[in-house]
Amino acid sequence: MKILKIDHIGVAVNSIDAGKNFWKEILGLSLEGTETVEEQKVTTAFMPVGESEIELLESTSPEGPIAKFLEKRGEGFQHIAFMVEDIESALSELKEKGIKLIDEKPRKGAGGKKIAFLHPKSTNGVLVELCQKI
Ligand code: ZN
Repeated sequence: MKILKIDHIGVAVNSIDAGKNFWKEILGLSLEGTETVEEQKVTTAFMPVGESEIELLESTSPEGPIAKFLEKRGEGFQHIAFMVEDIESALSELKEKGIKLIDEKPRKGAGGKKIAFLHPKSTNGVLVELCQKI
């Protein structure tokens, strides 16, 4: 598999509106808008930083994965996303190497990208997302 870059770093926040203060007002990153991915019960806000981005994640439902993360761990670093050349072949290669996958097949993420998560049990405790622009 070929990793092209760190696409983004996901940060779970209780509220994008309140959470953006540090990233936007203090650090001066630009926030171009938010996008809700209903399937994942999450609203995201991307802020470009050079070739990568910071992704703020706010839950839209107490049942969503971000709500559960916040409940257990509180606000903070949630996942790292690598852009790969070919997500399908990356997933089958990782599976072959015994890596536990959360998503066996890519699904639709924010920005119309194909995304898939690897299980933290196989990645030294880090939630890793693979993504590919389509
Ligand atoms: Zn992400």
